[in-house]
Amino acid sequence: MNNIPLPFRIGHGYDLHRLQPGGNLLLGGVLVSDQISPIAHSDGDVVLHALVDALLGAMGWGDIGEHFPDTESRWKGAASRVFVETVYGRVREAGYELVNLDVTLLVEKPKIKPFKPAMLASLREMLGDERMAVNVKAGTNEGCDAIGRGEAIAAHAVVMLKKT
Ligand code: MG
Repeated sequence: MNNIPLPFRIGHGYDLHRLQPGGNLLLGGVLVSDQISPIAHSDGDVVLHALVDALLGAMGWGDIGEHFPDTESRWKGAASRVFVETVYGRVREAGYELVNLDVTLLVEKPKIKPFKPAMLASLREMLGDERMAVNVKAGTNEGCDAIGRGEAIAAHAVVMLKKT
């Protein structure tokens, strides 16, 4: 059962998108490149998709594909922050709030470090708490596999929720 009033809930989310030349690459709601873009139904923001799946996982609510199907035209080109705001709104209505969020990005290019402060601010703003404990880590895949060749981008997110 998923409606057990647990004092804490942990959730993990993972997302990967293939990349294509041209267009905009958004990560955590921040524009990090206008040279490449994810192949996606929505804006393909892997950080936000991983975050949504982590929130859903913590609550025992399935996954992002069940809540925002890519077969529905209303989600075509959707700003992924809408997914975050919608799901976190439901989390809060269900009596939970975020304790902390930890994100790991796997990106070959561009270098993420210069964008981290903007990403942290963007995530906090989206989640409605400018002092929220949010961390973003970024690494490459050392030239291995599709991520290492710059053909794809991926993110993991872990959240802890506590009962309000
Ligand atoms: Mg996705």
